[in-house]
Amino acid sequence: LEDKECPLDKEELGKSTWGFLHTMASYYPEKPTKSEAEKMVQFFNIFSQFYPCEPCALDFQDDIKKNPPKTKTREELAKWLCDRHNTVNKKLGKPMFDCSKVHERWKDGWLDGSCD
Ligand code: FAD
Repeated sequence: LEDKECPLDKEELGKSTWGFLHTMASYYPEKPTKSEAEKMVQFFNIFSQFYPCEPCALDFQDDIKKNPPKTKTREELAKWLCDRHNTVNKKLGKPMFDCSKVHERWKDGWLDGSCD
């Protein structure tokens, strides 16, 4: 048919959402204020309530209840989020991501220059 744009399926929504979340974490302040740190905890709690894939949202709510958002520094937030994504990867049988490379993937580009 025509090249009409369609609603996002679970995979497209997931890929776009992880892109947003990891990019946000990689640009979060290195030393946030107490208020910023509290708001980022709230962000993830609210996000998990409204994420528009019900089974995904319910599992994510459980996961962040057991592993609450760590928002005291950029490093801590980026690592926490990478671990949450790896929990989903494991559930779906996808490969684990090396969390030491999270800023290369989402902010700085790979050290080999392949994103330059
Ligand atoms: P994605 O998992 O979307 O990853 C995109 C890119 O992120 C990868 O190509 C890689 O470069 C990078 N990446 C991978 N792992 C990490 C990591 N740990 N840290 C940083 N970067 C990483 N789908 C379901 O079927 N069931 C669910 O219950 C479910 N729950 C979800 C919960 C949330 C909160 C979100 C945001 C998505 C969820 N999804 C779920 C969608 C699923 O996680 C994937 O997004 C989707 O299957 C598409 O996968 P993908 O292979 O394109 O890569």
